[in-house]
Amino acid sequence: MKQSLTFIPTLRETPADADVKSHQLLLRAGFIRQNTSGIYSFLPLGKRVLSKVENIVREEMDAINGVEVLMPAMQQAELWQETGRWYSYGPELMRLKDRHNREFALGATHEEVITSLLRDEIKSYKKLPLTLYQIQTKFRDEKRPRFGLLRGREFLMKDAYSFHATRESLDQTYDDMVQAYTNIFSRLGLNFRAVIADSGAIGGKDTHEFMVLSEIGEDTIAYSDASDFAANIEMAEVKASYELSTEEMVAVEKVATPDQKTIEQVSVFLNKDANQVIKTLVFKVDEELVIVLARGDHEINDIKVKNALQAKVVEFATEEEVQQLLNCEVGSLGPVNIPTGIKVIADHAVAAIRNGICGANEAGFHLVNVNAERDFTVDQFEDLRFIMEGDSSPDGNGTIVFAKGIEVGHVFKLGTTYSEPMNGTFLDDNGRSKPYIMGCYGIGVSRVMAAVAEQFQDEKGFIWPSAVSPYDVHLVPINTKDEAQVTLADDLYKVIKENRFDVLYDDRAERAGVKFADSDLIGLPIRITVGKKAIEGLVEVKIRKTGEVFEWKKEEVLDHLQ
Ligand code: ATP
Ligand code: MG
Ligand code: MG
Ligand code: MG
Repeated sequence: MKQSLTFIPTLRETPADADVKSHQLLLRAGFIRQNTSGIYSFLPLGKRVLSKVENIVREEMDAINGVEVLMPAMQQAELWQETGRWYSYGPELMRLKDRHNREFALGATHEEVITSLLRDEIKSYKKLPLTLYQIQTKFRDEKRPRFGLLRGREFLMKDAYSFHATRESLDQTYDDMVQAYTNIFSRLGLNFRAVIADSGAIGGKDTHEFMVLSEIGEDTIAYSDASDFAANIEMAEVKASYELSTEEMVAVEKVATPDQKTIEQVSVFLNKDANQVIKTLVFKVDEELVIVLARGDHEINDIKVKNALQAKVVEFATEEEVQQLLNCEVGSLGPVNIPTGIKVIADHAVAAIRNGICGANEAGFHLVNVNAERDFTVDQFEDLRFIMEGDSSPDGNGTIVFAKGIEVGHVFKLGTTYSEPMNGTFLDDNGRSKPYIMGCYGIGVSRVMAAVAEQFQDEKGFIWPSAVSPYDVHLVPINTKDEAQVTLADDLYKVIKENRFDVLYDDRAERAGVKFADSDLIGLPIRITVGKKAIEGLVEVKIRKTGEVFEWKKEEVLDHLQ
């Protein structure tokens, strides 16, 4: 591509409103421009990097038999109402109405759409498993869009969804995905860890996040310096805010209208026997009603969590009970001991309120503000790790290090969370109707691009790894009025291009200083400078990454490149 014919608006100054390196340089080197908060245009160079990241993702998805589709960004509200997420997703979901006043969401994610698509088509176990993916623009009205492409409101995501007849089949695809993600982030040259993420269950077999280690990361992870062990440490903390799961929302929906739901308290139950962390949420609805929900992602003692939740919510949400609950003081309590499952907790919670017992002063349950060491001792819960930096790793190998991470990917065993409420069912080999067992797997393609941009740069500009560099070679004649230089550069441009290298040819009649500054900013892996020695058929070659400089004969250029 001739530079005079493309659009690379470089800036000499660092833009004042960009506060991380990737954002600053993507703007300065002319890769992106902001339209408005969290919304960006990809300029020609940015688009090329984005496409290269996309293609790596695509190759690895195809390699594990993922099949590409493209689903709509406009999604009818009815689908989201089926799962309850229309109410639970909150203000992050961009909503709009059509001319007939029908409600829509701009796709923040596609579980509902894909489940509705398959439920009408896939009716037999013989057609399972199936993994579909798309690479598509997502919309999330983030509270704090920031760090450029890292947290946008409109961004590119690869989202894959897998459908299975058995749990084992899901496990297999999940493992394949973890491998594919590992390949993708390795090919991109990123320094990353696959970390156990918070799914409400200790053991973390059900969800992993892929974190790029970076000082500007918004998550904190704990990892071993000598093994694969890594966890998102929010797992071990009581969260201040919380997104409702489908089950919780279905329950809440019965007593409240969408905009009245605010979360007042979040507590954590620890269930040693079931090897789980179970969250209990206290909701304040309409300033009057409070609902306590216990949450877990698994069946415990054959009781489905979902049923336990629904049964109890409505039962004790009277005003008086609410008041009692709000007045609860959790004093210094003995160790929490939860011998049985979540149903018991819900029962106890209701009984406690009914009997005027406030708080968690009954063996087996605990209501609000559970604190480690105060309300239970850590060593009671062998499977829950309150990990500190410098501790030995839970797997016995190495020492725990804390680091900041950027979440670039997330894999999740959904189970029947979506298929059940949406009636996505198939007939198994005995002719029994069962809900699909599902997994979902996301990669923030544009965020990944920013994570690469963050990692591969120095004070002069980008140092793109070949895998995602917008072009392979920057061809820079110093003086476009010098005939020997122009002739040689023109020749090289032709030859390099014909041999399938992507070359950016700076044919502009600019001063050498301008050209070099731009070239440094853009940061292609190889720069071929055509200068005074053009007359002798020699060019100067600089490797961006190492700074090495060579002199090549024009005839040898291709050989060297290959
Ligand atoms: P975060 O914790 O950063 O808000 P998330 O957990 O909400 O991310 P997921 O729902 O897991 O995100 O979406 C899958 C992937 O999409 C994430 O792993 C991340 O790489 C990417 N992603 C999510 N939100 C954004 C965003 N606002 N801008 C760019 N990429 C995003
Ligand atoms: Mg988010
Ligand atoms: Mg996250
Ligand atoms: Mg996530």
